[in-house]
Amino acid sequence: MKSHALLFSLLTAPLLASAAPPKTAPGVVALRGARLIDGQGGAPLEDSVVVIQDGRILAVGPASSTTVPAKARVVDYQGKTLIPGLISNHSHVGVVQGADMGAGHYTRANISRQLRQYEAYGITTVMALGLNGPLLQQLRTQQHAGRGPGADLFGAERGIGVPQGAPPTLGGRPVGEDQLARPETAEQARQAVREMVARKTDVVKLWLDDFGGSLPVKMKPDIYQAVIDEAHQRGVRVAAHIHDLEDAKTIVRAGADIVAHGVRDQPVDAEFIQLMKERSAWYVPTLSLDEATFIYAERPEWMAEPFFQHAVQPALRAQFADPAWVEKTRAEPKAEKARKAVAMNQRNLKALYDAGVRIGFGTDSGATPLRIPGVGEHRELALMTEAGLTPLQALTLATREAATLLGLEDRGVLAPGKQADLVVLDGDPSTDISRTKTIHAVWHRGKQVSGTVDTFKP
Ligand SMILES: [Zn+2]
Repeated sequence: MKSHALLFSLLTAPLLASAAPPKTAPGVVALRGARLIDGQGGAPLEDSVVVIQDGRILAVGPASSTTVPAKARVVDYQGKTLIPGLISNHSHVGVVQGADMGAGHYTRANISRQLRQYEAYGITTVMALGLNGPLLQQLRTQQHAGRGPGADLFGAERGIGVPQGAPPTLGGRPVGEDQLARPETAEQARQAVREMVARKTDVVKLWLDDFGGSLPVKMKPDIYQAVIDEAHQRGVRVAAHIHDLEDAKTIVRAGADIVAHGVRDQPVDAEFIQLMKERSAWYVPTLSLDEATFIYAERPEWMAEPFFQHAVQPALRAQFADPAWVEKTRAEPKAEKARKAVAMNQRNLKALYDAGVRIGFGTDSGATPLRIPGVGEHRELALMTEAGLTPLQALTLATREAATLLGLEDRGVLAPGKQADLVVLDGDPSTDISRTKTIHAVWHRGKQVSGTVDTFKP
């Protein structure tokens, strides 16, 4: 397979032309012989069968007792391991291209490329948590219907930022004005939310942070209260960017439903844990976000792996190879801060997980060039286990729990009736999480959409 993109366009062209129903493989397929991790957290099932029809799982169980329909096409996956397609609760699309970021990258071609990359790396559903242009609506409809290649796409529309405040301009170049609202008054904030809801945003995103004091203002209480109130009145949930514990408490008290990053300034306390549980609020740690700030200048061994290399666009690869960039990145004070942020974030994840707080899965991949789609998610799993979760616990967060956060009942676990989104691995990640990188194939809506990442061109 030389050209991934071409193959996809050939496969999808007839369907696009005929406005067909969701793109699914015809007939019945049985995946036989693999070890199965179903996303529910239990021990893997050895020697399984998964029967798929019309994009959905018809039956799943032990090979010894699960009937394979006579008409089924059988795929032998002996020695492989199946996991549900991963789901990101916090990523971005159309913000980055190569080593560049900012306005102008929210194009169909660029986002399509990113969605294909997510999917090839086993992330079959992505929530683009803010900074989306008007094109989101079309792309989301197309991806939901399975008419475009790549991961399914959900979105938090533009998002609500702060004049002269968060989010900071990206790389000195702000995203387009149609990708972010910065209301000055509570009424403007309500209006912005109404517009987003009218465009059917999946979630409303806001930022409560001054980025380590680097920005002169934070979102004012009357603004975030107006945003949350207006969104809730219209039945839409609110996800909040935070960094510090006090901001996290403040915004959850004000009614936010999803804390979109981990708390990184200090250990979480009993008050925060109680608040999160009382409100049934979700917490998305995004551990790999801060790691991305420093790790590539340290040249860890895994950067040499094809799994990593195939996710990196040429301009970014050139940056990684540039000794001046490496030296500068290592010397920057933010490298040390980011290292500490990862450690605090990990400690807090473990505390919140053990306390029974609802935890989702996200990375902020796609928000900056260093937060690489696909790579970020597999690093996130590794960092979660480093924080003290077992591989199966981490995988359950990235599948069943991440689907539950998004309110998606049709995916996240491998069970009858669910969408057949799954990743076929050469290795068993239940004993070593790094084996999620041994991707042999990805199936999306009951159809094999890619093989090993060696064939992927970013
Ligand atoms: Zn983000």
